[in-house]
Amino acid sequence: MFKPFGRENSGDSRPMGTVDKDTIVAISTAQAPAGIGIVRLSGPEAFSLADRAFRAYSGKAFSPSDQRKLRYGHIIEGEKVLDEVLCVYMKAPHTYTAEDIVEVNCHGGRVSVQKVLALFLRMGARMAEPGEFTRRAFLNGRIDLAQAEAVEDIIRAQTGLAQESAVHQLTGGVSKKIKGMKEDLLRLLAHVEYAINFMEDAMEDLPREPMEEEARALLDRMDRALAGAETGRLIREGIKTVIVGRPNVGKSSLLNALLEDDRAIVTDIPGTTRDAIEESYQLEGLRLRLIDTAGIRETDDLVESLGVDRSMALLEEADLVLVLVDGSQSIRKEDRAILEKSAARPHLILVNKVDLGLSSDAQTLLQEEGDGGPALAISAKTGQGMEDLEKALSVLFLEGDDGREGADSLSNIRQINLLEKARDSLSSALGGLETGVSLDALDVDLQDAYQDLAAITGESIEEDVLNKIFQDFCVGK
Ligand code: GDP
Repeated sequence: MFKPFGRENSGDSRPMGTVDKDTIVAISTAQAPAGIGIVRLSGPEAFSLADRAFRAYSGKAFSPSDQRKLRYGHIIEGEKVLDEVLCVYMKAPHTYTAEDIVEVNCHGGRVSVQKVLALFLRMGARMAEPGEFTRRAFLNGRIDLAQAEAVEDIIRAQTGLAQESAVHQLTGGVSKKIKGMKEDLLRLLAHVEYAINFMEDAMEDLPREPMEEEARALLDRMDRALAGAETGRLIREGIKTVIVGRPNVGKSSLLNALLEDDRAIVTDIPGTTRDAIEESYQLEGLRLRLIDTAGIRETDDLVESLGVDRSMALLEEADLVLVLVDGSQSIRKEDRAILEKSAARPHLILVNKVDLGLSSDAQTLLQEEGDGGPALAISAKTGQGMEDLEKALSVLFLEGDDGREGADSLSNIRQINLLEKARDSLSSALGGLETGVSLDALDVDLQDAYQDLAAITGESIEEDVLNKIFQDFCVGK
């Protein structure tokens, strides 16, 4: 819904873009049979459009004391009643978009809301673009970009932990963290800018040691934030979990055992599960996005080899790989190749079919990898070892962290990439300080780092930098 802004837009001294003066309208609730459905108007004409379409049961026109109160009445077109509604007017600037807003609570389902929407469009309102109400909230300065993104995350959250994390971001938790980092960077920048603008012997005039110390401390904070961000991302987006193993080791059976139903096709013929299937599996607030793949093995069959290519690509992108081997048989060359390929990714080795008895190979594998550690004996058929598997998954992602640290962190790829870039620029600046590069080079690195942090919350740089410089330094002295 909300389209994040690219960095190229973030150089203005105001939040980028301007809000047009259109009055926009949209159906803000899901269109399915339901008690109520809400049509929302925002913009300068919101009140006047609603005045024309809404007839209060009391017969009275809107008065300022009606603000934020639900009024009962009807939406009418001419003399025709379109729906019986409750209507609320909210005056700018203390509204969602910081503009005048009217919300009409119609009957739910598709028809009432669409009739009311169509009426407002005929009257001259413009259909809102996806995310436009939230975009206006950002452009009008009520929330920053990270908060705007959080709105979307709340709506899309699929677990309690994901929702909690997004609510934290909406209430400004992430923004505060970034703001603290920006302030530290500005202090560093201020020294450099001051030396460039007002000192004679530039580099020598910098308090290099304290600056290095500050830069190191800030780098450390960024690293910690990035480490937490990974958990945060997994909480929000779900853990992309790929089940790999050669055909017939029990991948589909495992998927079904985890999901406790029979959605994936289980078959005895090697290589017939050709397409990857994705299912969601909830575990203590975490969501595992389980992907069952076609068996990975050398093959001549074209259709199957497409599936195999995809398995390998999926493996590269996985947050977690569940490597399955058939424990009742000896470990084959293909098994070893798959184990090797998975070793570079976070993984668990599952020695399946323990109910049939374990081969000596399988026993060795369990001993080498440690039963209960990265390798576990399970039976997808009887359910043996499944509890251990759940425990191992929980340890892997939530141990020593009940998710709070991750929930508090920035969590989408845009934000993480920007913070990584900021960290790299700061690290380069620190290197420059240590080796004594030119002031200009230092300035560029610090500015870059600042720009990237500012882009996380969607604001600008120039005015901020200048204000800070003249606030921290007494130039006349
Ligand atoms: P895939 O090709 O890796 O997806 O393997 P399937 O899930 O289709 O399983 C292949 C065969 O092994 C089927 O006949 C399953 O019933 C059987 N199987 C899977 N897991 C187990 C297990 O833990 N124990 C036993 N005895 N059989 C299993």
